[in-house]
Amino acid sequence: MTSDMSFRNHVRDWLHGHVPAGWRESMTAATTEAFIAQQREWMKTLVGAGFATSHWGREWPGGGRPLAEQIIIAEEMARADAPRLLLYFISLYHAALTLMEWGTEEQKSRHLPAILQGEIWCQGFSEPNAGSDLASLRTRAERHGDNYIVNGQKIWSTLGQYADYCLLLVRTDSAGPKQAGITYLLMDTRSEGVVRRPLKQMTGDEEFAEIFLQDVKIPVGNRLGEENAGWRIAQTTLTSERGLTILELCERLYCARWRLLAAMGENDGIVQDDQFRREAVDVFVRIDALRALVGEMMIKLMAGKDIAGAASFVKLLYARVLRKFAALGERAGGSAHLLSGFTLGGGYETGNWAFDFMNSYQWTIAGGSNEVQRNIVAERVLGMPREKWQPT
Ligand SMILES: Cc1cc2nc3c(=O)[nH]c(=O)nc-3n(C[C@H](O)[C@H](O)[C@H](O)COP(=O)(O)OP(=O)(O)OC[C@H]3O[C@@H](n4cnc5c(N)ncnc54)[C@H](O)[C@@H]3O)c2cc1C
Repeated sequence: MTSDMSFRNHVRDWLHGHVPAGWRESMTAATTEAFIAQQREWMKTLVGAGFATSHWGREWPGGGRPLAEQIIIAEEMARADAPRLLLYFISLYHAALTLMEWGTEEQKSRHLPAILQGEIWCQGFSEPNAGSDLASLRTRAERHGDNYIVNGQKIWSTLGQYADYCLLLVRTDSAGPKQAGITYLLMDTRSEGVVRRPLKQMTGDEEFAEIFLQDVKIPVGNRLGEENAGWRIAQTTLTSERGLTILELCERLYCARWRLLAAMGENDGIVQDDQFRREAVDVFVRIDALRALVGEMMIKLMAGKDIAGAASFVKLLYARVLRKFAALGERAGGSAHLLSGFTLGGGYETGNWAFDFMNSYQWTIAGGSNEVQRNIVAERVLGMPREKWQPT
């Protein structure tokens, strides 16, 4: 047995004994408080077992694992249908890895142990007029002695209403190229002048917050890197999870095929409908193809190659296949679920088809919209010329 295989067995056995039985059902129609309690408990369990921070350095629980083992953990989490750490995702990847690369010793020792204890982070990058074109951001920070005074607005901050800290991009210089005047700050979300408003989605969920900042005082000691050097640091944040999330999501989608088959089995009309069956087979084949592409991308990553173009391609296909898959589930499962109440989830994961179908649309925007991914594929994979996009 290879060491990879014995590690896989170890992870699998551990998950078998620790994934809370019936967690999905207990989260359906659960309150926000119940969701947070579930996330906190699962985070504590994973940190204790060394599976939450395998991508951190050796000095951390379970840290310093080779990429191959990190991949195994992600795959096995998906196969065991373990809850995802939605509330701590930004903390464990975006915040932690950006701090590790760019933080001072003081910043690292203040926040990294706190993250393991459950400190929640959000990402305050997007603004109402700065999403795909992030460098256009206008939230302004002015230096006054040992503090920055910050004014502006952030939007679409995932679970930002629960966060203790925010990774905040601000403008400190308006002259010159827009990328060159951005600074990266670590903001305590309880600072005076910070107002967070949850945003209600069509699912009824409130998965995002908008964050209003009025004369918020942020100590200069909370700056990451140099003033006006924030753009480069933000690239670390944006690429921090290195394809592992999409790997896990694709694996979850692969495993969720059984749920679709079960829904079909319970619906006589659907199971005898040739057209429906053809569409289902088409989606299953696409899921297989997606997994093969992810596998190829991971091999490239392990060989130290650039995966930016491949990651865009995979993300683009994932968004399309997921939407189709959730739509089939919704047709097979019917709209009865609409009455059963929703839970916080993310694509096909709640077991509630109506919710999952509505929620699947988020993947066409999150982490860069489909159109932006197509641009990247065109330029980086196909080598097509770069043209400036103009709204029609
Ligand atoms: C699930 C989810 C989670 C998110 N989490 C966070 C978070 O935690 N923190 C955070 O800061 N932000 C977050 N966002 C925001 C996200 O980064 C932005 O929504 C995204 O960058 C798109 O920006 P926008 O919404 O302003 O749309 P716009 O950039 O205004 O785009 C509008 C439309 O124009 C198209 N378009 C724009 N530029 C081009 C181009 N160059 N070529 C072709 N078409 C183009 C887009 O594809 C889109 O259809 C999240 C979004 C989602 C959906």
